[in-house]
Amino acid sequence: MDQRADRPPLYIAMHERDNVAIVANDGGLPAGTVFPSGLELREKVPQGHKVALVDLAEGAPVLRYNVVIGYALKPIARGSWVHERLLQMPTARELDGLPIATVKPPAAAPLEGFTFEGYRNPDGSVGTRNILAITQTVQCVAGVTDFAVQRIKKELLPKYPNVDDVVALEHTYGCGVAIDAPDAIVPIRTLRNISLNPNFGGEVMVVSLGCEKLQPERLLPPGTIPLVDERNVADIGASAENKLDVVCLQDDAHVGFMSMIDSVMRQAEEHLERLNARQRETVPASELVVGVQCGGSDAFSGVTANPAVGFCTDLLIRAGATVMFSEVTEVRDGIDQLTSRATTPEVAQAMIREMAWYDAYLDKGRVDRSANTTPGNKKGGLSNIVEKAMGSIIKSGSSPISGVVSPGEKARQKGLLYAATPASDFICGTLQVAAGMNLHVFTTGRGTPYGLAEVPVIKVATRSDLARRWHDLMDVNAGRIADGEASIEDVGWELFRLMLDVASGRQKTWAEQWKLHNALVLFNPAPVT
Ligand code: CA
Repeated sequence: MDQRADRPPLYIAMHERDNVAIVANDGGLPAGTVFPSGLELREKVPQGHKVALVDLAEGAPVLRYNVVIGYALKPIARGSWVHERLLQMPTARELDGLPIATVKPPAAAPLEGFTFEGYRNPDGSVGTRNILAITQTVQCVAGVTDFAVQRIKKELLPKYPNVDDVVALEHTYGCGVAIDAPDAIVPIRTLRNISLNPNFGGEVMVVSLGCEKLQPERLLPPGTIPLVDERNVADIGASAENKLDVVCLQDDAHVGFMSMIDSVMRQAEEHLERLNARQRETVPASELVVGVQCGGSDAFSGVTANPAVGFCTDLLIRAGATVMFSEVTEVRDGIDQLTSRATTPEVAQAMIREMAWYDAYLDKGRVDRSANTTPGNKKGGLSNIVEKAMGSIIKSGSSPISGVVSPGEKARQKGLLYAATPASDFICGTLQVAAGMNLHVFTTGRGTPYGLAEVPVIKVATRSDLARRWHDLMDVNAGRIADGEASIEDVGWELFRLMLDVASGRQKTWAEQWKLHNALVLFNPAPVT
């Protein structure tokens, strides 16, 4: 029997001005429950769902996180379940007249002395894993590449023990697309920058079909791949033009399927040799490029896991690292919090530009940011996107926001960055891989087995119930915060230290252990043909 079943009744309010709070107890609480404050439940309220702390008149603003998450559609008595059906969602904040760079937080003391063991790359970036990634120009070659990768893993990888894995960068782009449409730049630069992720050591090799629209030179134009060193230059004839290592399946030299496989394997072995010769070295924590996101969120996401990640984000920023937070539709309702935290008006304007672009993108499909929430979110107590956004945005901590990364672009500076991506777990993760992420933190309340082949994913559970049931999938249990067993700071520090261990390869995440690899999913706002 669950030892937590007889815990005293507990609700959690996020701000002193809030007129609703969420029920914390596993399984929810029955009608008649009396809290230590004297509040009595008028009906059963499930875990994570809201209870009215005061009588709410029809039309009254409902406050959580000290933000209006809705208006009461009818009178709601104190102690009642504030169900999503009882709330009218507020309209989205206009994108003009926003506070611009108004918050000047006191400079936080630098956090010094923290290091991890990483792979230093020729371009100065640092990998947390040593992976051979095989780039593909088009989906047509995916089957052949996968066949070759299976053989490489079986026959070659055991000879190169210092290489962690071989990964085929499969995707659905490359042909049958309007490649000259202005927005096609998004999937193209995403694929280019994924190939250059720090975990791949600059060892780019490409499998191409031959007749596709996305020709290798268009994907990786001369000069994109940094020359590894002089030995490499000598190998290929000192010219950046013929630096690109391409296996073209339609090449006349290929007679039969096996000759294609042989070509891929032969080329792969050259890269494996060089990757295998690399050594981890001690580097400062400032070399971490962390992507944070959430998926399968519930009402506890914004109470436990995301605040702990936010605390950890502040630690990382103090240590000089890079942290990217994303998911446009999950921060859209908090745009004023973000523009006010921008370090410069230019950064604030860049955020507004990304939000406006996304508003228009959604509008073209005749929806708005409210299309974000899922049945699971609502079952977990999140009434609407405003409430979800307030819980999501906390992942960004309280540091100043110093830059904006457009979809598919590479992050070119350190600090706290807003990487504009869809909230879709796989698309967000894919774009963060392109942005140069070398470590991924993912919070979940409902539970998701999410993982990536390219970058280690640390998963943080929002509730102890989930952490117990999914004990071999969740890496950190932030539910201890709601249980009163740990503080936000405790879990934030635990996560920070775990990140250094995972980055160093000293510890594997559960997703790595089980090899749970979600597909790379490109964001393609351009037409297909
Ligand atoms: Ca997500």
